[in-house]
Amino acid sequence: MLTDTALIQIRRHLHAHPEIGLKEVATHDFLLKQIAKLPQENLSIETISEVPTAILVRVAGFAATKTLAWRTDMDALPIMEKTGLAFASQNDRVMHACGHDFHMTIALGLLSYFAENQPKDNLLVFFQPAEENEFGGKRFFDANGFHDQFKPDEFYALHVNPLLPAGQMATRKGTLFAGSNELRVSFIGRSGHAAYPQKANDSIVAAANFVTSVQTVVSRNIDPIEGGVVTIGKFNSGQAMNIISGQADIEGTIRSFTQAGMEVMTKHIRMIAQGVAAAFDQELKLNFRQGGYMPVVNDKEATDFFIDYMEHAAQVDFQIVEPAMIAEDFGFLSNHFKGTMFWLGVNDPTHTLHSNQLNPDESAIMKGINAITGFLTARMQK
Ligand SMILES: [Zn+2]
Ligand SMILES: [Zn+2]
Repeated sequence: MLTDTALIQIRRHLHAHPEIGLKEVATHDFLLKQIAKLPQENLSIETISEVPTAILVRVAGFAATKTLAWRTDMDALPIMEKTGLAFASQNDRVMHACGHDFHMTIALGLLSYFAENQPKDNLLVFFQPAEENEFGGKRFFDANGFHDQFKPDEFYALHVNPLLPAGQMATRKGTLFAGSNELRVSFIGRSGHAAYPQKANDSIVAAANFVTSVQTVVSRNIDPIEGGVVTIGKFNSGQAMNIISGQADIEGTIRSFTQAGMEVMTKHIRMIAQGVAAAFDQELKLNFRQGGYMPVVNDKEATDFFIDYMEHAAQVDFQIVEPAMIAEDFGFLSNHFKGTMFWLGVNDPTHTLHSNQLNPDESAIMKGINAITGFLTARMQK
C-alpha cells in the first residue's frame, strides 16, 4: 500500500498542478501513471470519450455479490493561491482550494490498499471531473458510464472540512448538503425620457416588484423547519438618472435541503416572474440552470451502517453533524445510488473551503484512508 510519504508526495504534486473542471488533462495522466504502478491483477481501467478526463477503475472482488463505488472529484478553482507553500500552485490563477487534491490522494490510497488486498465485493473508484461547475457526475452518468456487471449498488464519497480536527469523520442521516440552482431573469420593456413615462415601459419598476415578491417564496411556501434560500445577488438596469430603463437583468441562487423544496421554489419563482411580466406588460426571459445541484441525501440503511462502523472502529474519531448549505455534485449520484457522503476534518479553522489560503493538515490523509478501507471491508461482509 502507498506509504504516508508517497501519499504526501502525490498530494503535493496534485496541489502544485491544479486544473479547472473538464480540463483536468495533466491530472488525468498523472493519476493513470500512479494507478499503473499498482498491482494490476484485479484492476481494470476505463475512460469514456464523452468525458475524457474521467477515470473509472474497477477492482474485481474474490466473491462478489455487489459493487461498492467510491467517488473523488478532480477539479480546482479559478483562484490565485496565497498560501506561500513550497508546493503552491504552479498554474496561474488556479488552485486546489476545495481540497480535491486530498480527495484524489485518498482515492489512490484506497485503490493501492485494495489492489494489494483483494476485496470480497467489486469496488469501483470513480475519478470525477468538474465537480465545481460543470456537473461532471451527471455528464458521466448520462454518457452511460456506469453500466455492465460493475454498475454500482452503493456510492460513497467524502469532502474535506477545515473546521473539523484532522482525521475526524462526520456525517448524518438524511440531507448532508443542500441542493442549489442559479436563475437568470430579464424584464424587457421600453426605454424613454424620464419625463414621459406614458411613452415608455419601465423595467426597473417591474424588476423591483419581482425582487420584492420572491422574498415570499421561502416564507410562504416552504416548511419553516425545512428552510430554504432565495438570494438575488445581481441586479443590472439603467443608463442614466433621467432615462427610463427598458431592460433589467437579475441573477440569483436558490438553495434547499430537499429536492422537493428545490422544485417548489423553482415553480413559485417562475409563477411570480410570469405574473409580474404580465402585470407590467414586460417581455420576460427566465432561465434556471439545467438540472442544478441536487441535495446530498444520505441513504438511511447505508448510513446507519456507516455511523455504527465509525462509532465503534478503533482509532476513528467520529461525530454526527448538522447539514450544511453548501452544494455538492455528489447529490446527483446520491439521488441515483444508495450510499453515504461524509466530512473528513483537515483542521484549518481560520480558512473556509475556497479560501486562497486554505492549507489542510496532511495527517488527515492516512487517517481517512485507514477509516475508509476498514469501513468498505466491513460493508462487503454484510
Ligand atoms: Zn468547492
Ligand atoms: Zn469541493
